Amino acid sequence: MWSRSIRVGEAVVTSLTDGRFRLDGGAMFGVVPRVLWSRVAPPDESNRVELRLNPLLIQLGGRNVLVETGFWDRGGEKFEAMYGLDRDESVFSGLRGLGLEPGDVDVVINTHLHFDHCGRNTGADGRPTFPNARYVVQAQELYDAMHPHERNRASYVPETFVPVLEAGLFEVVEGEAEVLPGLSVVPLPGHNLGQQGVVLRSGGEVLVQPADLLPSLAHVPFSWVMGYDLYPVTCLETRKAWFPRWAQEGAVVATPHDPRVPFARLVPNAKGGFDAVPLEE
Ligand SMILES: [Zn+2]
Repeated sequence: MWSRSIRVGEAVVTSLTDGRFRLDGGAMFGVVPRVLWSRVAPPDESNRVELRLNPLLIQLGGRNVLVETGFWDRGGEKFEAMYGLDRDESVFSGLRGLGLEPGDVDVVINTHLHFDHCGRNTGADGRPTFPNARYVVQAQELYDAMHPHERNRASYVPETFVPVLEAGLFEVVEGEAEVLPGLSVVPLPGHNLGQQGVVLRSGGEVLVQPADLLPSLAHVPFSWVMGYDLYPVTCLETRKAWFPRWAQEGAVVATPHDPRVPFARLVPNAKGGFDAVPLEE
């Protein structure tokens, strides 16, 4: 079972998973040569590397906050085979394990609206999955999702966000914003313009969900940005602005796609960058 809970100050944070999937290793590691990335992310016979989509449940002050909702589940057989989707567990089985139903979620944070992150925003009936939640999204991201172009269109599936918009459940924010006392979203541009991450501060402890600024722990070297990133140099700058802060604060980092490790910390290394050190069980 994937789910693991940790305490961050007054909050309880649980890493859930919506299953495994696979993406082209070259696209995941941009200009990094295969001989280097294949050591940390061994590819399959189709050159794909294993990933997960790991939503976080943050329980704070009696509220349930879900960061990411899951991988889109209505793409059909061909789509699921292309992505090697393997739902060994789901966001719903993870919530149930904590005694929660979708109606118990008070806040959804959409780091961005790509289908591998917000795929379970809506259900098979086309309606919002979390009817009692406000869905927090950046204005820039909602605009870009509603106005896709040839380079980003494949990442957006309108049925995962248009019904949320029509139901009036989006809470659209611009820039840094407090979601609950101690819990904020911060812009992390680079993967796209409107991506946001999540920062939880409680009792002197810090937890960060960096969205696709740091998709997995294998991506921790500064220049290991993805071919998928629309603005790779911006991504590099955002990393250089935030990684040192997160390391200095001793923040627990919960990446959205690591296939094995739910929680880690960034530790400075001798090369001027950072290593990811898994949080001990
Ligand atoms: Zn992603």
